[in-house]
Amino acid sequence: MDELLEDLVQKYLPFTNQGQLANYIPELTKVDKNALGIYVVSSDGKSSFAGDYQKRFTMQSIIKPILLLLALMDNGEDLVREHVGVEATGKPFDAINYTDQALLSEHLNPMVNMGAILLCTLLSGKNYSHKFQRLLELTRNLSGNSEIQVNEAVYESEKRTGNRNRALAFLLKSQGIIQDEVEDVLDCYFRACSIEADCKDLANIAFVFANRGRRPVSEERLFPARYAHYVNAILMTCGMYDGSGDFAIRVGVPAKSGVGGGIMAITPTRMGIGIYSPGLDTKGNSLAGIQVLEELSQKLYLSVF
Ligand code: GLU
Repeated sequence: MDELLEDLVQKYLPFTNQGQLANYIPELTKVDKNALGIYVVSSDGKSSFAGDYQKRFTMQSIIKPILLLLALMDNGEDLVREHVGVEATGKPFDAINYTDQALLSEHLNPMVNMGAILLCTLLSGKNYSHKFQRLLELTRNLSGNSEIQVNEAVYESEKRTGNRNRALAFLLKSQGIIQDEVEDVLDCYFRACSIEADCKDLANIAFVFANRGRRPVSEERLFPARYAHYVNAILMTCGMYDGSGDFAIRVGVPAKSGVGGGIMAITPTRMGIGIYSPGLDTKGNSLAGIQVLEELSQKLYLSVF
């Protein structure tokens, strides 16, 4: 396995240049575009890795499945489903999907920004900083890494420039879908996106989803199997932005990408995979990261199809 990962990293390293860094969050342009790393955790507890697997990057949208999980743990499936739908939008993650019809919860999706902003309001907590702290604790617990922190520079950068997310949040507020102060809700969302991880953290988190809510080896249960089922199903249909259908054909596993260049891929019952390469394709997915995953999936028969 180590050799296979090393070969894939060497093979796809030259393609890292073809991607573009996300530049709408200025701080995200300060990274090395040629980085490529992968970490895999298997059901026997063994780990394999190659390339820049130790580089840290902000999770960005990869926090969305964890945000959804916490909302499910806090409120149960019925209430979450009542507020945020589950259908793919087929549109970019920050699309202002609104014409003249009423904006209904079934038009929202937890993997695109408007749905994720709404999920922040559903978390338990006495204020938004408490809600965020609970999300951070869950992320640390799932990854087994108590050192996980927010990258303050990315958080500040996003808070300063995130006007499209402000527009989305104000739209939710104008429709009465959220009641709280927009800036408080967004502060939780921006901090959540700025949580920093590496490929190992993503692989460990992915493994818990792959193992239906249990840690590797010890099998300690962290959340009900039903919630892994719920989150994995949404990741399969909507986790890779409006490239999710293409990804399902090429790779065929539930996964979530973020504009920081990470991908967290879940191969049910078998593996958790974390990948990092910050050059993005036109949909916002890690370009070399998908290439590595596509070949890994072919070689190890990972596709659930
Ligand atoms: N913080 C980013 C935003 O809201 C997340 C985008 C992403 O990774 O998809 O614009």
